Amino acid sequence: MSIIVDHLTKTFGAHQAVDDVSFDVPGNKLFCVVGPSGCGKSTLLRLIAGLEVPDRGRITLDGENVAGDGLSVPPEARRVGVVFQSYALWPHLTVVQNVAFPYEAQGFSRQDAYRRAADHLSTVALQDYATRRPEALSGGQRQRVALARCLAGEARTILMDEPLANLDPHLRAEMETELRAFHDRSGVTTLFITHDQREAMALADVMAVMDKGRILQIGPPQEIYARPANANVARFIGRGTLIEAIVEDGQARICGQSVPVNGSADGTRTVFIRPAHIQIDNSGWPCAVTSVHYRGSHWEATVQGDGIAAEISIDLPQPVRIGENIQLSFAGGWVLPG
Ligand code: ADP
Ligand code: MG
Repeated sequence: MSIIVDHLTKTFGAHQAVDDVSFDVPGNKLFCVVGPSGCGKSTLLRLIAGLEVPDRGRITLDGENVAGDGLSVPPEARRVGVVFQSYALWPHLTVVQNVAFPYEAQGFSRQDAYRRAADHLSTVALQDYATRRPEALSGGQRQRVALARCLAGEARTILMDEPLANLDPHLRAEMETELRAFHDRSGVTTLFITHDQREAMALADVMAVMDKGRILQIGPPQEIYARPANANVARFIGRGTLIEAIVEDGQARICGQSVPVNGSADGTRTVFIRPAHIQIDNSGWPCAVTSVHYRGSHWEATVQGDGIAAEISIDLPQPVRIGENIQLSFAGGWVLPG
């Protein structure tokens, strides 16, 4: 149930929507592709589903070549289930009828189809909703019916294109938990696509950061967060500040301070500093607050001061005012490679 994508390229007119993309998703893993709107995520998913034909490159699903070298296996023969942002349920059918539909279409008796559908409804914890129509369900419940129907289609590979984008924030967090549980319970391989890096970090075993049709970095979320491969990944994943600094023997000179940094390379480098590595310190670097946002548990702020052009992102446990003067010390950073 692995997904292997090898040098995949897709052009629309003069636009490279997917540009030489390669990755390998082992079976039973949840792989998230995250990137800004328009970067080519949906095109990538549609190529894997068989809804688009690549210009170049190959796709292998569960060890079987499905696209490339002049071959293009039709979508219905790829055994992939696709869940889009809109749920695409039949409005005139009940929940169980929606899920039984793929079985009935394959010629199972109605009784058999319903029994199998009931199993999948338990997998998504909707067994008590079998006789409802989609209109009588919440957004999250409809999304679960769509998932159950994927399983009924015997999909062992599930492709999801921003399935949570339409949901309220609190429901989205709940659905993240449910999607992860669904993935683990059903034993499928999941490719999940989103523009929301927080969602990707919460769900992924492995995540790929995509921009302008290309993959910028692939790795576990913690690794991408702690050790971004370049400035674009650093800017896209979480908050932090890129600062030019002289690095020597694992120490960067930043605002007159000697800051221990990871990533070994001496010289004038770009150092990436997360808010967690910056504290208020009365003998620290003087700066002025340029923006502040209350986030419930803390305040997110930016500051500016002498010697550094960039606005620096910080988190504070107490409120500050715009224009207020504070002092900061830096406790760590990551030296960007290259
Ligand atoms: P994302 O899902 O990351 O927002 P898409 O894969 O939908 O991005 O689109 C990537 C780029 O390819 C966009 O610039 C989009 O306009 C273009 N594109 C996508 N599908 C088509 C198509 N069928 N014809 C022409 N251009 C397309
Ligand atoms: Mg899209």
